[in-house]
Amino acid sequence: MISRVHKQWFKITVTRFDDIDITERLLAWFGDQCRALPWRDAPCGSRDPYRVWLSEVMLQQTTVTAVIPYYLKFLDKWPNVKALAEALDDDVMRAWAGLGYYARARNMLACARFVAEQCQGVFPRAESDLLKLPGIGPYTAAAVSAIAFNGPSAPVDGNVIRTLSRLYAVEGEMPKNKDKIQKLAQALLPLGFSGDYAEALMDLGSQVCRPKNPRCSECPWMQACQAFRDGKAVAYPQKAAKKPKPTRRGWAFWVERPDGHILLERRPPKGLLGGMMGLPTTEWGEILGAPKQAVERFATAQWTALPGHIEHTFTHFHLELGVIDVRVDANTPWPGLWIARDDVVNQALPSVMQKALSHAQGLKR
Ligand code: SF4
Repeated sequence: MISRVHKQWFKITVTRFDDIDITERLLAWFGDQCRALPWRDAPCGSRDPYRVWLSEVMLQQTTVTAVIPYYLKFLDKWPNVKALAEALDDDVMRAWAGLGYYARARNMLACARFVAEQCQGVFPRAESDLLKLPGIGPYTAAAVSAIAFNGPSAPVDGNVIRTLSRLYAVEGEMPKNKDKIQKLAQALLPLGFSGDYAEALMDLGSQVCRPKNPRCSECPWMQACQAFRDGKAVAYPQKAAKKPKPTRRGWAFWVERPDGHILLERRPPKGLLGGMMGLPTTEWGEILGAPKQAVERFATAQWTALPGHIEHTFTHFHLELGVIDVRVDANTPWPGLWIARDDVVNQALPSVMQKALSHAQGLKR
């Protein structure tokens, strides 16, 4: 259905034959192959912008498979922007736990409150107005405008960069030269169908024009694709050599009272894992400090550094985290949340903290 509508429209509106062919092929392919996803619950242009925005925020840096249960949970708890704006920070962070990049959750909440309070609960339609909302960057603004409103915007993410840089064999390191891709994406944009176009590019990039093993024989652009014709599909996008990630090291503390309660602390609001609950930790640096120094803050002589460590990779570094088992008095005046040992696994904690807890519990069994 989508492709028939597009064909009629292209005949009367677009004059550049090559681009018509490329865009039409893409949209025809999308009409047959588009993924059924929970946030694609209505035709583009008539979708609830709250749902579009929520899905786009969640999908940044994460896979569709990981996002679906979170998206459904959020919609169930907070079905519209007003409900989300009224939610408690802790409830939202708890619901987000495990999805990573926690700054996104804080920004999302700030944006929901802004829309509810300053925009009467209505998301603006234009990309330029969406960009003014807290926590909304160029990609999300373009995606919401295109998908929810069919605005004349072409969101460009990693999938789009990869696919278009192969189609046109675009020279220059990416994402440094992203503006070249932005211009190409904009030039192909079929006005009035920008939502379908944006989603078609997303699907083509993730399902067909994959980073390592592109499925060129299934691609609607195979005949037009310069990188394919040159036999150099995986040479694009051109990228600078990756710098190896540094490794940081630190200690986490399993702090236990005689009544079997474990101490959880809230991390500072800004920065990595900002505002999330977790085991207390030291700073993470290049060198692992001596455990004796690390436990000084608890003013107790009862502690043991557990053997081994957990490993976790963040965007910019690898982390090696050892765990120190610390015993404190019943009356320890330590600010934080004391949780019964058996309940601690049920807390919504970031993945790195879950790993540290499992490591400690496995050794202490
Ligand atoms: Fe990507 Fe291959 Fe399609 Fe070119 S032909 S866009 S390399 S999948």
